Amino acid sequence: MSITQEPKVKSFETRLFINGKFTEASDGGKFDLTSPATGEKFVQVSEASEADTDAAVAAAKAAFPAWSALSPKARGVYFKKLATLIRESHDELAELEALSMGRPVSEYIESSMAANSLDHYAEAGFQALGTSSLNTPGFVNMTLRQPYGVVAAIIPWNVPVMFLVNKAAPALMAGNTVVVKSSEKAPLTSAKIATLIEKVGFPPGVINILSGHGHISGKVLSHHMDVRVLSFTGSGRTGRIITAAAAKSNLKNVILELGGKTPAVIFEDANIEKAVEQTKHSVQWNSGQVCMANSRIYVQESIAPKFIELFKQSFSQIKSGDPLLKSTNHGPQADKIQYEQIQSYIEEAKKVGKMALGSEPSEHTTGYFVQPTVFLETPEDTRPMKEEIFGPVVHINTFKTEEEVVAKANDTEYGLYAAVYTKDVSRALRMAKKLEAGRVGVNCTSPTGALDMPFGGYKASGIGREGYTVSIDHYLETKSVLISVDEF
Ligand code: NAD
Repeated sequence: MSITQEPKVKSFETRLFINGKFTEASDGGKFDLTSPATGEKFVQVSEASEADTDAAVAAAKAAFPAWSALSPKARGVYFKKLATLIRESHDELAELEALSMGRPVSEYIESSMAANSLDHYAEAGFQALGTSSLNTPGFVNMTLRQPYGVVAAIIPWNVPVMFLVNKAAPALMAGNTVVVKSSEKAPLTSAKIATLIEKVGFPPGVINILSGHGHISGKVLSHHMDVRVLSFTGSGRTGRIITAAAAKSNLKNVILELGGKTPAVIFEDANIEKAVEQTKHSVQWNSGQVCMANSRIYVQESIAPKFIELFKQSFSQIKSGDPLLKSTNHGPQADKIQYEQIQSYIEEAKKVGKMALGSEPSEHTTGYFVQPTVFLETPEDTRPMKEEIFGPVVHINTFKTEEEVVAKANDTEYGLYAAVYTKDVSRALRMAKKLEAGRVGVNCTSPTGALDMPFGGYKASGIGREGYTVSIDHYLETKSVLISVDEF
């Protein structure tokens, strides 16, 4: 396809942001960004070298003493200004993401999510409290909560601004300084946020933003002896590499938010129309490139024909095309690699399951568009049922009993989100208890969330939890201070 809507944004920030200054890569390295809608290269972005990554960590280390000495209130002043600038940049951020990873501008919600998060953390610093104890005779004891020093955040491409803020803001509010590495597939919004950080006037080095590939800057950060915490969102494959790097270097704390294979279980007493609309939205939004998308749906046999028919009707009603057009609600996949990976799962699923939607060729002859695709009766022990496809592809299987569906839903190494639709309260609560997932939706599914509920994975979907009430805790050490008191 061709881009039919002329973007309003004419120039892009593509440089690294180190120690409060924008700079090209020290070795002049750059990488190409390709539009997933057209398949054409449109800009070159700085590739942070090993030396650049070291310089960013050194800048963060140097900025740490002064930043950590500020009161939470003083840190919050910067956050509030940044939140305002992010809200004002909504249209530009939406366009940058549409251009680099194909998300339709009509579906861009990250600017308000990120700004709200900054507003929250601006006030949250006083949560960092220790405890005191009189339980040891002759002592008054206490714990101190203190920042670690340099925190690194490595983020993916599917919702980059939200991840950047949700990792950097709690780390900074706890008094740490930060180096963020954006994804090579969607670096433009992170670089734009760096321009806003510069405008706000954060002290140099407090937050540094690098663009580049994982095997260069990502590798340096995960092995770095001066990085004390590494917060990562991305694939399980990279999560394992990072954990090994942390173990081999300084045993830095690692927080991992990884992939998923969300099951949605629909019992015969469910509100079918609601279940159809929500499970469809879950796997269609962002072209299915969502860690918690319900890519497996289990429907009780008696309602399966009706559910499947309604689901197919709803899932085929997409408006796919130029992500810059406000009328588009289904963009291309983020890049060629993602596209080819999804196609290989589709080809494999065709051999073992029944394709019920998606066999028509895409109306677009260029770009990385994938049709909404439904498979029925895919055997449970196959790759398409077990692995993350990360596209608008869903497997709908049937079940007879609660026991059977619990076993199938849990038969995966992933455990990020699970959903159950039923009007029976006892069954809903039994299921919520039995499903092995860090978040369970009852009569709702992903991406439904709640800001004060922790988010993270069971099993191989991650280590640790993130969210308004828990994230700051990851970025604070606990020190016990034992004070011997002279008696009268
Ligand atoms: P990815 O693992 O390929 O890349 C994520 C980041 O890691 C990128 O910035 C990349 O450059 C970097 N990286 C790659 N190799 C590295 C290495 N050797 N060392 C250090 N860094 C390295 O993942 P992706 O394709 O960007 O994102 C998709 C994945 O992220 C999916 O598996 C998805 O489920 C997961 N995800 C999880 C959540 C969650 O909250 N659990 C949210 C969004 C995405």
